[in-house]
Amino acid sequence: MTVASEVHRYSVGDIEVTVLSDGFRMVGLDGFIMNASKEEIAAALGAAGLPTDKSRNTYSPIVLTTGGKRVLFDTGNGEAVFNESKGERGRLQHNLAAAGIDRKAIDVVVISHFHGDHVNGLLTAGNTAAFPNAEIMVPEQEWIFWMDDGEMSRASKGRMTDLFHNNRRVFDALGRKVTRYGWDRDVAPGVTAVGTPGHSIGHTSFVLSSGAERVFVQCDVNNHAVVFSKHPEWHGGFDQDPVAASTTRRRVYDMLVAEKMPVQAYHHPFPGLGRVERDGTGYRVVPVV
Ligand SMILES: [Zn+2]
Repeated sequence: MTVASEVHRYSVGDIEVTVLSDGFRMVGLDGFIMNASKEEIAAALGAAGLPTDKSRNTYSPIVLTTGGKRVLFDTGNGEAVFNESKGERGRLQHNLAAAGIDRKAIDVVVISHFHGDHVNGLLTAGNTAAFPNAEIMVPEQEWIFWMDDGEMSRASKGRMTDLFHNNRRVFDALGRKVTRYGWDRDVAPGVTAVGTPGHSIGHTSFVLSSGAERVFVQCDVNNHAVVFSKHPEWHGGFDQDPVAASTTRRRVYDMLVAEKMPVQAYHHPFPGLGRVERDGTGYRVVPVV
């Protein structure tokens, strides 16, 4: 795996986008999709020439240079998992350095939602701030939900309870020093936060806009470039409100097709930039490199 394949740069008008790989993880198909059989999922993967018994989940945070600021969107799995995953994940800091970006030069970190593969990289392996000079911006709706003790006490055991504990671990280590942002407002020059709930209660996407150019940073609206594109109605096992997630997916992808707006995706194959087209009753994401 060469360094060059883990850093990708392009521009949106005056905004410079640097996509940085945080690595990948192979996940089994148990619990991957809740309303399709293993045979249906295998068929969808096989039709795209992919392995039919597991799925490759990739992680691609981006850094924007906009208005003289360096803004990181999501932080990957964190340096703490680099060794335990034998370097498969937790690669963001390594790739930031490879791209010539000093972690101390990150001015703002914008978080899309409070799942571990997006927030854990806020901390170093020693549980200190990984971006010591950055303002940390979080979606208001996510903060309210995950920091609420009542919500935590009512959470189902297992993954949801683990997420509540993990979010407190991460944000407590930062002294809960965050700036909350709302939807439909700018979080950086040329960057508007857009509510795309479902994957999580306050899941947020972003529209990059400069001059005549725009890109939609979807974050986790569509967690698999093939299966959820072809079958937007399928319910992801990691979607907190799968019905809302599916509705959001269709709404966003209809908009991207109508407006011919490229999409930057956190979990699609690196570097995650694509164009959305209609395909039968669903969509197809065509990589743009
Ligand atoms: Zn994710």
